[in-house]
Amino acid sequence: MEHGDPNPTQIERRARSTSRYRFRSVSGRITVSLNHYLQARAHAGQRSFCALRHCHINKGKIDIFITLKTAHHVVWPNVVFFILVHLGSLYGIYLIFTKAKWQTLVFTYFMYIVSNTGMTAGVHRLWAHKAYKAKLPLKILLVLMSTIGFQGSVHQWVRDHRVHHKYSETDADPHNATRGFFFSHIGWLLMKKHPEVTAKGHDIDMSDLRADKLICLQKKYYYPLVLLLCFITPTVIPLLWGEEIWTAFFVAGILRYTFSLHTIFLVNSLAHMWGTKPYDKRMKPAETKSVSFLACGEGFHNYHHVFPWDYKAAEMGGYALNISRLFIDTMAKIGWAYDLKTVTEATLKRRIIRTGDGTHPSLLKENDSF
Ligand SMILES: [Zn+2]
Ligand SMILES: [Zn+2]
Repeated sequence: MEHGDPNPTQIERRARSTSRYRFRSVSGRITVSLNHYLQARAHAGQRSFCALRHCHINKGKIDIFITLKTAHHVVWPNVVFFILVHLGSLYGIYLIFTKAKWQTLVFTYFMYIVSNTGMTAGVHRLWAHKAYKAKLPLKILLVLMSTIGFQGSVHQWVRDHRVHHKYSETDADPHNATRGFFFSHIGWLLMKKHPEVTAKGHDIDMSDLRADKLICLQKKYYYPLVLLLCFITPTVIPLLWGEEIWTAFFVAGILRYTFSLHTIFLVNSLAHMWGTKPYDKRMKPAETKSVSFLACGEGFHNYHHVFPWDYKAAEMGGYALNISRLFIDTMAKIGWAYDLKTVTEATLKRRIIRTGDGTHPSLLKENDSF
C-alpha cells in the first residue's frame, strides 16, 4: 500500500470535486494504487450511490473511472404536492388581477411577512442558533407564526439547519449548493435525503428542543395546526370584508404560501451562489441584498455563516432589509426577548481583514482615502 493514497471515501469525494456534479450522477477519473483500487471496489459494492465503471493500469498505478450514482429516490407525494400548490398559485395570480379585493392583497402581504418572520426570527434565529432568549408569550407567538409558513415543524427544520451549518456544501448538507441551483432551492425536498444527511443528522444535539414542551407539542399536532393556520385561517379572515372564499383560498392561502416558500428557499440556493463575501471569501454563502429583502433579513448569508449566533444575522442593511431584526428589537423593548447576542466591533474588523474578500464598505472607504 503506498503512503498517501486516498481511502475509498476520499476517492468518492475527489471524484466529485474533480468533475461536475450532475443531478443524477457524477463521473470522474482518479489514480490510486492497486490496493486502494481493490478497497474502493469493495466499498462501492456496499453503497448504492457509488460504482466503479472500469480501470486500466498506467505506469504501475490504476486509473479508476468512477461513477457515483446518487440514490435517486423521488418522493412522489412531495412532487405532486408542489405541482398542485404551484398550479394553485398561478390561478391565485390570475385572481389578483381579476377578482381579489384590495383588502385581501394587503392581508396576503401581511400573512407573508408574519409567516416569514416566524421562520426567520423564530425557528432560525431563536431555536436553531439560540441567538437570543425569549419568554413564553413570544415563543408561543413565534410557533404560531412559523406554523403559518408550513416548512416543517420547528424540530425538523432546526435539525436540518444545524446539519446544514455544520456540514455546508458536503453530502451531509441537506440542501448542498454544490449540487446546483435547482437541488439546493427545492430539489432536495423532492427526493430522499442523501445517506450522509441522515447519518450526520442523528449526531446533531437536539436535547434543547426535545426538552421544550412547546416544541414537542407543535411537533405532535403539526399537520392539524398547519391546516388551521396556513390554509383555513387565511381563507376565512378575508370573508370579513366580503371576499369570495375561493379567491381568499387561492390568493391569501396558496399563492402566499408558495411565494413565502420560494423567498426562504432563495437563502439556500441564490445566497449560496451569488454575492460578495466581505467576511470569509473561503466559503460559498454570500451577501445577497435582494434575498434579504424577500426573506425578511436572511440574505446576508456570508455574515450569517461566519457568525451564526448573531441575532441580527447581518451587519448591514438596517431594518429595511431585515424585518426580523426589527421584530426582535421590538420584542426586546417590551421585555419578551432578552440576551441578544451580537458580534463586537473589534472581532468583526479582525475577521474582515483576515478572511474577507475586500468588499466590506469599511475597507473600500479606507482605500478611497489613499
Ligand atoms: Zn446557508
Ligand atoms: Zn442559520
